[in-house]
Amino acid sequence: MTATEVRTAALFTAADRCDCCPAPATTRAVLRTGDDLVFCDHHFRRNQAALIPLATMFERHVELDEALAFVPAFTGR
Ligand SMILES: [Zn+2]
Repeated sequence: MTATEVRTAALFTAADRCDCCPAPATTRAVLRTGDDLVFCDHHFRRNQAALIPLATMFERHVELDEALAFVPAFTGR
């Protein structure tokens, strides 16, 4: 079973930081234990392979435009 990746805007504020370094947080890994870990892009990529068996979901912070692009397009133009 693989973890679901969810893209969402406004997941973090500028005050949210990676658990491994002072960089801004971009990803929250929700673990099967119920705990969660917060990573910057760099540390998420570095730890992703190890996290996949442990996580149920990765929430990725994206800009609003990109989050909206994940929603099925409105076709009634
Ligand atoms: Zn980091």
